[in-house]
Amino acid sequence: MMQDKQTALVTGANRGIGYELVKQLASMGFQVIMTSRDSKKGSEAAQKLTESGLDVLFVVMDVTDPESIRRAAMTVTNNVGRLDVLISNAGVYLDENVKLLHMDPAILERTMSTNFFGVYHVMHSFIPLMEKQKYGRIINVSSEYGAMNALSYEGAGAYKISKLAMNALTRMAAAEVRGEIKIYAVDPGWVSSDMGGPSAPRTPERAAELILQSAMIGSEGPRSGFYRDGKAIDW
Ligand code: NDP
Repeated sequence: MMQDKQTALVTGANRGIGYELVKQLASMGFQVIMTSRDSKKGSEAAQKLTESGLDVLFVVMDVTDPESIRRAAMTVTNNVGRLDVLISNAGVYLDENVKLLHMDPAILERTMSTNFFGVYHVMHSFIPLMEKQKYGRIINVSSEYGAMNALSYEGAGAYKISKLAMNALTRMAAAEVRGEIKIYAVDPGWVSSDMGGPSAPRTPERAAELILQSAMIGSEGPRSGFYRDGKAIDW
């Protein structure tokens, strides 16, 4: 079965920027697969959007569990049959104000497991569907902390390393993939979600709008890039 409508999938979408991404993609006319690691929180968030008339399907997916990602990819392949936009948004930030060499190493491992390996497994499981249709747009939600120049100042070492590794993965995957598939890393800015805190100047709504500008880049656009506010920035 192949869905007529364009389809998008967002990870970590039960709150924050991910929730707004789902809402905006569905308002643009996509059928959106909203994913969350928590079936209760995820299905409640999806229900709120379907009640307002949006085309949103909920699928459970924990990005630290490759089996859960594979199952979600099978569900999308068998029940929807296409995927036009894939957004890896799920992320954790566990080491604010902790020094890299003094932290519990489990913090680095958990951060890498979500922010780097999670993104790897998501691409690994969903790219075959995109390669089959020879089309796709993938956005990996990154951070300015993942830029090379962020390594020159202290703090958030685990988070920085995870986003830097995610950026490297983004570029390498884009060079390898077949068909018209573009893969971008996008920094949403400092956003007033649970992660960004209440003092952050940018709303999740505005962050989602800016992220989606990169997802809508046409066939003339580059295969890869690191973007903020719709403009390419240094890796
Ligand atoms: P939030 O903390 O508000 O939301 C994070 C989301 O990720 C939640 O839905 C959470 O689910 C989900 N998540 C965490 N771990 C997993 C997992 N293992 N499997 C599936 N989902 C998971 O963060 P934001 O919305 O602010 O962040 C979204 C993205 O933007 C992240 O990648 C972050 O690094 C990036 N970013 C954010 C900035 C900011 O200022 N806010 C700045 C730069 C980048 P649950 O509810 O179950 O915990």
